[in-house]
Amino acid sequence: MDMSPEEIRSHIDKDIFRLIAQIADEMRLECYVIGGYVRDIFLYRTSKDIDFVVVGSGIMLAEAVAQKLGKRSKLSVFKNFGTAQVKYKDFELEFVGARKESYTHDSRKPVVENGTLEDDLKRRDFTINTLAICLNGNRFGELLDYFDGLSDIENLIIRTPLDPDITFSDDPLRMMRAIRFASQLGFDIYPDTFDAITKNKDRISIISSERIAEELNKIMLSPKPSIGFVLLEKTGLLDIIFPELTALKGAETRDGVGHKDNFYHTLAVLDNISLLSDNLWLRWAALLHDIGKPATKRWDNKSGWTFHNHNYVGEKMIPKIFRRLKLPLNEKMKYVQKMVSMHMRPMQLVEEEVTDSAIRRLLFDAGDDIDDLMTLCEADITSKNPEKVKRFTENFKLVRRKLKEIEEKDRIRNFQPPVDGNEIMRVFGLGECREVGVLKTAIKDAILDGKIPNEHDAAFDFMVEKAREMGLQPIIT
Ligand code: ATP
Ligand code: MG
Repeated sequence: MDMSPEEIRSHIDKDIFRLIAQIADEMRLECYVIGGYVRDIFLYRTSKDIDFVVVGSGIMLAEAVAQKLGKRSKLSVFKNFGTAQVKYKDFELEFVGARKESYTHDSRKPVVENGTLEDDLKRRDFTINTLAICLNGNRFGELLDYFDGLSDIENLIIRTPLDPDITFSDDPLRMMRAIRFASQLGFDIYPDTFDAITKNKDRISIISSERIAEELNKIMLSPKPSIGFVLLEKTGLLDIIFPELTALKGAETRDGVGHKDNFYHTLAVLDNISLLSDNLWLRWAALLHDIGKPATKRWDNKSGWTFHNHNYVGEKMIPKIFRRLKLPLNEKMKYVQKMVSMHMRPMQLVEEEVTDSAIRRLLFDAGDDIDDLMTLCEADITSKNPEKVKRFTENFKLVRRKLKEIEEKDRIRNFQPPVDGNEIMRVFGLGECREVGVLKTAIKDAILDGKIPNEHDAAFDFMVEKAREMGLQPIIT
């Protein structure tokens, strides 16, 4: 990696590092910047999370730094872990004392004792995260590279500093982290590191769902998330943490009729949408849009393979998946469910006819999520047939144009019918009953079908007329 010592030093020649260096020198503590911050210097990425290793007490240095920064900083000490955090402006500074861990044969619990910098770097996850920059005295800016981290950054390689079997069985979360870094950074996993993930995959079960979900979300937000999911699949981890996705694998053929492999199709849709949107939950909708396919797959002698109602079945599978992965069960999940259940609507509309009333219904049902839904549908075009791709793309353009026209004309998005249930009950002297529901639906349909304008008086007249047909008379007019 071509970076001169001066250039490396210039990356940490900032007030915050100078201040910490000065305090460390005064306290005669050896202190290093390590981990993601140093790695990212060589990847030309910037970060506000900075990790420091102190040979001695990390907590003592953090306390002194927080005191010097005064009220503008916030100190949190985690005595049990021997770590401390200082928040200052938008920086998150993490301090830890250098540690040595040894695992005895009869116990999984490590014995932790004070160690040297090298001892500490050995217990870290990947070589690319073991680079350290010294802050002390005239060593300010000196790079230490005990495990060939620089050459792995240059060659885009994720590799463990120790025997990968040891690294992964000590902390199985590192298997998820390996794949997450590969996906985020576009790196390859070194063969023996990869093999050790396959070998240790079952140990992932001791990791909490929250921590797995955090890594999954980082994979989801990476530039090309399929890299991460393909690695999860190939190592066997996906089958353990997300069997609904591996169930999408495979393309069956019968009487010469095949269907696409829905796993790779799903990943293509996810990559497509990631080029168009950074919305994590829209990306989740892409990942799950066909999740109901395995359960609904049927063979029909006339029409071949069918997946009837896979969108609704998929919508219903989502709460269980979100609960298991400890993903939020709030409006974010509802949004993903809505996208999955509606993902066929624009396509069906194109296949039939793009009438104004069909457009109004789509707009009414999707509300403010209409643009995201259209983005999902466009990302869902993964056909290899250029003719088809062209036709679908053009049809969706037409739908988008019509949506805009109708929206400007009728303001259907988020519309509340101009005559509501309370008014219906008042006018006809009714309590809550079936008739009120029938009238409400009739008014909504009449507006969406363009029979009457989206206005109170027109809706009122229509209601009175409709009620008369049902044998109801208004008691007030
Ligand atoms: P990012 O912050 O972009 O997710 P990072 O590399 O900074 O990536 P952190 O989780 O912030 O990762 O951890 C900081 C450093 O601590 C890492 O660079 C790595 O050296 C070490 N580390 C974190 N988690 C582990 C782990 N589970 N096992 C070993 N080392 C770890
Ligand atoms: Mg970090």
